[in-house]
Amino acid sequence: MSSDIVKRVLAGDRRAVARLISMIENDGDEARRALADLYPYTGQAHVVGVTGAPGTGKSTLVNELAKVYRKGNGQRVNAPKTVGIIAVDPTSPFSGGAILGDRIRMRELSGDPGIFIRSMATRGSLGGLARATADAIKVLDAAGYQVIFVETVGAGQAEVDIARTAHTTIVLQAPGLGDDIQAIKAGILEIADIFTVNKADREGAENAVMALQMLLDLDHVSRPILHHGVVMEAGGACGESDSGQASSQQQSWRPPILKTVALRSQGIEAVVEAIEAHLAYLKESQTLYLRERERIESELNDILRQELMRRLLSQMREGELEGLIGRIGRRELDPYSAARRLIERERFA
Ligand code: GDP
Repeated sequence: MSSDIVKRVLAGDRRAVARLISMIENDGDEARRALADLYPYTGQAHVVGVTGAPGTGKSTLVNELAKVYRKGNGQRVNAPKTVGIIAVDPTSPFSGGAILGDRIRMRELSGDPGIFIRSMATRGSLGGLARATADAIKVLDAAGYQVIFVETVGAGQAEVDIARTAHTTIVLQAPGLGDDIQAIKAGILEIADIFTVNKADREGAENAVMALQMLLDLDHVSRPILHHGVVMEAGGACGESDSGQASSQQQSWRPPILKTVALRSQGIEAVVEAIEAHLAYLKESQTLYLRERERIESELNDILRQELMRRLLSQMREGELEGLIGRIGRRELDPYSAARRLIERERFA
């Protein structure tokens, strides 16, 4: 059963891809087996995260980016590439809106077999969503999609987790959605490889660009970049320009700040160029390898934590957990000892 779906995914069968992602959302054993079989075929795609507040224009921008990749007549993308799009919305538990959005998008990018669009539903915890998203990326990767966009809303921990699975992360801003600097939440500078101020047709776009510029300058002063064990100045070789062009002497990456009007397809090629320049930088500077190692380590940690918890809980008798919680509440037992007891039993079981 599992091997049949694996074969079909590897052959690029869209229905098999969709089905396996649903199985992943439901967290079944069959999905795990299929993922294990697919794993050797992953690691080929360029994963691009796109994050920003609701309404900044993520879906519109990603659609436009997808079109440019499909055309493949640009400077760095000079042959069409296949595109996978995963939209993650941790704020909508039933993702009805996302599904509706998918239909509209499907119509727009209609019938192109080189594009696959999917939204991820929130089932279970947010950590679960990040895991499921990482696994869905693997499915698209194994199915041969060359560029995979992962859209996430806002800048909470779940988005940061999801962004960590991306090679390149675009942080989207738009004027008129509240205070420009406040909109940039903590942690966003760490994950942003490219800033895009969308809706540049609106008043305030220039202010948003300047606010970002200032933030990057501050970050530059306060956070030297550790590169190959040597402290280097952030901004480095490309500090003077915002083009984000990678060169072989370049030691660090300063996120370029780009302006787009996604609604009218303006400025999109420049974003694609920046995405490709960032990939080239990641490869040349060995950062790709380092990021991949970090990603694998954190993924393994997550899985271990999840699996151990699952095992422990499955060995407990009915009501045992509640009983323990009660005893801890009555101060008959402290939580460390309770945890130790559970773990010891697991070890000798
Ligand atoms: P998301 O929630 O971040 O995915 O945002 P959407 O892509 O759904 O866009 C939100 C709204 O902004 C839609 O009505 C879009 O048509 C509109 N929009 C997107 N890009 C632009 C733009 O560049 N300029 C203007 N004025 N509106 C835009």
